[in-house]
Amino acid sequence: MAADLAGHVSGPVHAPGTDAYDATRTGMQRLDRHRPDAVVEAADAGDVRAAVAWAAKRGLRVAAQLTGHGLGAGMEGGVLVATRRMDGVRVDPDRRTAWVGAGATWQAVIEAAAPHGLAPLSGSAPSVGAVSYTLGGGVGLLARRYGFAADHVRRVDLVTADGRLREVTEGGDPDLFWALRGGGAGAFGVVTGMEVGLFPVTRVYGGSLFLDVTAEPGALEVWRRWTASVPEELTSGVSMLVYPDVEGVPGPMRGRQVAQVSLAWSGPPEEGPKVVEPLRSAAPVLMDTLRELPYAESGAVFDEHHDPAGFRGRNVLVDGLDEGALAELTRMTGAAPFFCVVSLRHLGGALARGPETANAVGHRGAAYSLTVMTFAGTGASENPEEAEDTEAMRELREEAVALFDEHAVGRSFTLGFGPMDEQEVREVFDARDRARLTRVRAAHDPRGMFHSNRPIPTGGW
Ligand SMILES: Cc1cc2nc3c(=O)[nH]c(=O)nc-3n(C[C@H](O)[C@H](O)[C@H](O)COP(=O)(O)OP(=O)(O)OC[C@H]3O[C@@H](n4cnc5c(N)ncnc54)[C@H](O)[C@@H]3O)c2cc1C
Repeated sequence: MAADLAGHVSGPVHAPGTDAYDATRTGMQRLDRHRPDAVVEAADAGDVRAAVAWAAKRGLRVAAQLTGHGLGAGMEGGVLVATRRMDGVRVDPDRRTAWVGAGATWQAVIEAAAPHGLAPLSGSAPSVGAVSYTLGGGVGLLARRYGFAADHVRRVDLVTADGRLREVTEGGDPDLFWALRGGGAGAFGVVTGMEVGLFPVTRVYGGSLFLDVTAEPGALEVWRRWTASVPEELTSGVSMLVYPDVEGVPGPMRGRQVAQVSLAWSGPPEEGPKVVEPLRSAAPVLMDTLRELPYAESGAVFDEHHDPAGFRGRNVLVDGLDEGALAELTRMTGAAPFFCVVSLRHLGGALARGPETANAVGHRGAAYSLTVMTFAGTGASENPEEAEDTEAMRELREEAVALFDEHAVGRSFTLGFGPMDEQEVREVFDARDRARLTRVRAAHDPRGMFHSNRPIPTGGW
């Protein structure tokens, strides 16, 4: 099968059982993997068209992947389009836009934009794929000032199930353009590239304050109160975890529950320290990486680790957080007998206002995003059934998120981590938008050929 496909494309095609097949289908997420009949490393949009047309003729399914950061359930059989070779980025400084290939990470876009005094709406980890992040919404370091990354997409180049390459714009195909921006990349076709807006940001004041939650269990509540009054130039999040007492972990953090408050201030840099000051009294500061930095170094703000891992997350978007629930969340996750990370993001500002041209991003009124993640080691096992996402881990994720039921408004597309079933995906979107999304899916992929990490059905929901 792979040999036949290879005759239709210019990029390499890998068959099951080869090292190249395993290397290409394996990404950041190790609890799940695609098991396609063939992996094609597409060299360009022509290869994507040929692969989709080849699969369509044979009744096979198609999935796309760049880094595997956002992998949902793995696809069984079919064709996996690996996009890493399609990593071109072209900046138009006059129009303040970038055309971003499907294989480009945010870091590549950041580096291409920086010499022009511009920045994209990238997120905490510049190593994630810019296309998938953006079409899922995309909550970045400048989110409260400029909105979702999806709010600033100008054009999407998309190969649909009929094997056509379309330039999808508001003027040309308003329904598909609406659905792609917030409804994600995977359900409507394979994206070969897109044009996005850039912003005049060269430097930020940012980094992380590591607060000692063991000494001050109320640290999250202090952060919550602080977020209630910060300007829109400030976007922040908290990652709370218990650091193991082992070598390699900085001394002051070993064995302690720590809230890492990560933030980016894009107002006048000299004002940054003053805005952040109230946080310093929240709890003993174990480590402080705040400084003025070029946006090109924005990966240092959250300074996330990028080793492949087996992880699952449960997310909820809320219209508020209350003190009692935050205290219980701190207690519950601090006592977990396995590695668990609580991740909160402050939303609002431009995220709530929305773009000039409406899109499918849901729940703009949400004030915060909460994700509870658990880690099952490297998940090296080929069979997800044998991996170690245990019942206790699932229960903790669900119970921790349920503490905020009273304030729940929906779920985030990108901040969910791991697979979501159709019911969970339904909760990503506003009720008024669900039927329209399924209509767009049915119009462009009636047979449900595309396997997406966030499945949108072709029929009723
Ligand atoms: C460490 C980490 C930090 C993150 N930080 C943020 C953040 O700050 N803000 C935020 O909003 N999100 C964040 N995310 C979530 C991230 O935006 C999503 O996981 C995103 O989908 C990753 O894109 P990818 O291409 O790297 O991943 P992949 O796993 O390669 O792709 C994810 C899915 O997107 C679809 N897809 C990918 N490429 C294409 C294509 N060319 N055409 C069609 N469909 C495609 C497929 O369904 C695929 O399964 C983070 C994730 C991680 C793991």
